[in-house]
Amino acid sequence: MTTVSTSTSLSAVRQEVERIFKLQKANQQKIANTTANDRRKKLDRLHKAVLKYRQEIKEALYNDFRKHPAEVDLGDIYPVTSEIKHTRNYLSRWMRKKQVDTPMAQMGTSSYIHYEPKGVVLIIAPWNFPINLTFGPLVSAIAAGNCIMVKPSEHTPHASAVMKKIINELFDESEIALVEGGVEVSTELLKLPFNHIFFTGAPEIGKIVMKAAAENLASVTLELGGKSPTIIDKTANLNDAAHRIAWGKWINNGQVCISPDHVFVHEEVADKFLEKVKAKLKEFYGEDPSATNSYNRIVNNKHFKRVEGYFEEALSKGANVEFGGKTDASQDYIGPTIMTDVPENSDLSEKEIFGPILPVYKFKDLQEVIDRINSNEKPLGLYIYSNSRKNINQIINNTRAGGTCINHNLIHFLNHNLPFGGSNNSGIGKGNGFYGFEAFSNPRAVLKVWSPFFVLDLLTAPYTAFKQKLIDFTIKWL
Ligand code: NAD
Repeated sequence: MTTVSTSTSLSAVRQEVERIFKLQKANQQKIANTTANDRRKKLDRLHKAVLKYRQEIKEALYNDFRKHPAEVDLGDIYPVTSEIKHTRNYLSRWMRKKQVDTPMAQMGTSSYIHYEPKGVVLIIAPWNFPINLTFGPLVSAIAAGNCIMVKPSEHTPHASAVMKKIINELFDESEIALVEGGVEVSTELLKLPFNHIFFTGAPEIGKIVMKAAAENLASVTLELGGKSPTIIDKTANLNDAAHRIAWGKWINNGQVCISPDHVFVHEEVADKFLEKVKAKLKEFYGEDPSATNSYNRIVNNKHFKRVEGYFEEALSKGANVEFGGKTDASQDYIGPTIMTDVPENSDLSEKEIFGPILPVYKFKDLQEVIDRINSNEKPLGLYIYSNSRKNINQIINNTRAGGTCINHNLIHFLNHNLPFGGSNNSGIGKGNGFYGFEAFSNPRAVLKVWSPFFVLDLLTAPYTAFKQKLIDFTIKWL
């Protein structure tokens, strides 16, 4: 396995990624021919390695952005180990020929879907859950029988170094290669004619990836982001809502693609909700969140400045700080913060926050909230806290979103039986479980004629009156 460092010159980067790509192209048929058992063995080795390096991974992520070890277990280790267990359990079933029905007009044939690997694929990952969002798609790509090039984020170098070590130990570069580096390395990789590109990151970068993929007509899975709203109606259990939102918003310092970006709460229960969520924050992080190691930091100064800028701008436009608002640039620290009266024409209301600030908007009429959500891009996640079936149905049937939790947030990601991904601006295609396997596979249609007589064979030129009658019959009855 080879790594390419950012200090290497651009032409050296190009040569190196081209060299690995060629090796993988030459090897792809051998990897495609592997059985479910062969692929399970690879997944088992990866599983063992993730557990073997668990402590090192935790230290790496603490060094990268002070991620608490328990959050590494919950957000990086467990999603990967559970994805591997799920995939190994179902893999034979997914790889099996999938018989499909035969239409009457094709009597005498049988058909099935054969899932074949796409070939040589590229995975580009972000920094916020570096192990989870690199190894998660890797599990699916291995399961589907591909050769794989992986580019983790340059913003979490310690995590990348451990992943590099793991992949180095387990795989030959002609099968799986991890390539380190930033935008310039990504750009070189994107010029290569991969058969599939699985990208996780920001919508604007997703557009760059899709344009590059179009040059080679490579298929893409784009796992993107955006603003994921939460709605709390007046029937909601406010204790649960406060507890779960305090967890879902501030885990990983709000740097979660499906984090509850902002909250719409019914005006009759808004004050109670605010009181409860503030109490929860004190319970979780104490009086001074900067003093607890349970509270992460913003990944780097660039993102610190971005989020701080949103905060300052909202303040200058009249927003109110309900809780927190403390920052420390020397540590890339922004304390858990809740704001109300945030104007619609502010960055906090318009851009993905991806940080520890929660704008809370009060509402009277549910339809107004639905209209406001629908006036924005389709979100990756939409969360509903309610005990009213009518309200829940009204929201689900009248909005669009990649995924929804009712009376919770984030946890739909952890059910590997559900597709994970967005819609349009929040993503294209799905990952996790079977959907990840499918993303890295081509569902090839196979039809076999087994009968000596096949009715469609009669419908060839010359088109006599008798044949026209047969065609008419087919259109009318079959
Ligand atoms: P990013 O898009 O800046 O970076 C992601 C990857 O793309 C990195 O490996 C980076 O090196 C590469 N990259 C950056 N600029 C590039 C360019 N111009 N050309 C080619 N490659 C480029 O995202 P990020 O800051 O790492 O992560 C934050 C974003 O990712 C947020 O928008 C968040 O919502 C989203 N996200 C989505 C998911 C999901 O599963 N849908 C998960 C995590 C994060």
